[in-house]
Amino acid sequence: MKHFSEIPTLLQAREQQHLLRRRVELQSPQSVQPIINGRQMLSFCSNDYLGLANHPSIADSMKTAIDACGVGSGASHLIDGHHQYHEALERELAAFCGREAALVFSTGYMANMGVMAALMNRQDTIIQDKLNHASLIDGAKLAQAKMLRYRHNDTGHLAQLLTQATGKKLVVTDGVFSMDGDCAPMTDLAQVAGEHDAWVMVDDAHGFGVLGEQGAGLVSEQGLSTSDVQLVVGTLGKAFGTSGAFVAGDQTTIDYLLQFARTYIYTTATPPAVAAATRTALGLVKQADTQRAHLQALIARLRTGLADIGLPPMASRTPVQPVVIGSNERAMRISQHLNERGLLVTAIRPPTVPEGTARLRITLSATHSFAQIDTLLNALEDSQ
Ligand SMILES: *Cc1c(COP(=O)(O)O)cnc(C)c1O
Repeated sequence: MKHFSEIPTLLQAREQQHLLRRRVELQSPQSVQPIINGRQMLSFCSNDYLGLANHPSIADSMKTAIDACGVGSGASHLIDGHHQYHEALERELAAFCGREAALVFSTGYMANMGVMAALMNRQDTIIQDKLNHASLIDGAKLAQAKMLRYRHNDTGHLAQLLTQATGKKLVVTDGVFSMDGDCAPMTDLAQVAGEHDAWVMVDDAHGFGVLGEQGAGLVSEQGLSTSDVQLVVGTLGKAFGTSGAFVAGDQTTIDYLLQFARTYIYTTATPPAVAAATRTALGLVKQADTQRAHLQALIARLRTGLADIGLPPMASRTPVQPVVIGSNERAMRISQHLNERGLLVTAIRPPTVPEGTARLRITLSATHSFAQIDTLLNALEDSQ
């Protein structure tokens, strides 16, 4: 945009390319059957993988905490907004990840920006997977570090780029890729990074709660310690059902981030009741083995069904199950057809995903039933 007068033209162009995004209005709690624009829908698009967003125990914890300490934190963490609930949550999250310490941020976006900008500067190099989440790309921009990007999950390409990197080297990847659902090859990646004296930062927003023992995420599932993967980021607005995010690592690095991560320092602490609710959520996440097993069974049913109707899903063992359609228009058409039948499946289009790979992004929750998967499969078959 060279001039503000181009704004209407750019907006029209978006619409003509079938890229205009529209929000829907949720009029009920988040669930697999939300009320949207006055209509009850069957939803396959939230990140509420364990159905905790409207869990009564978590809601009760939040209410109790509000009675005990009100709503607003009233200040940033380093002034006097850091409540005992935040403190306890950080300790519990660190233990959950098998790390010495953790720091809780207001959002995952802010955690990524804050960590990368605190650790890296102009002399350094951030090496990222091509399909990393936007917040990681923006984190590298904020850090003003050099940025190199390797082909998706290609550790050979990563090794090649690491030989060109200068200064401190930070390898950054999504754990579970948010638009593809596949996992980063963590063990190989950590080994290649280690050979080049680089640190590894994993954003496992979609792995926590879903993968690993007790839902401790991809890094834990792969048995990788702080010496392999120095920093693990998790978000609390997905499987945890609340809001916020955390970074976990060794004590010294977390101490450093507390002093230097600007998106942690210069912002109001989240309401303490959210931290209290998240502590309850963490307890439920750890105990959710039955829900995780059901989720895996749903994933298997969906994948078999999709292949049977000629819509093969991408390679993914997570609740993120995208089906690549190709053209923006066709993806939108299928999504609209499903919508007319009361099914909510989002069409994800560029620039969120590469040009020509518009897709239906189906996400599953442990609160879905097998019958609901079959309803989706039938509607998808009819939309062909
Ligand atoms: C959702 C997401 C984020 C952002 O987290 P918020 O808490 O929603 O800001 C960051 N990284 C990845 C991979 C995500 O999927």
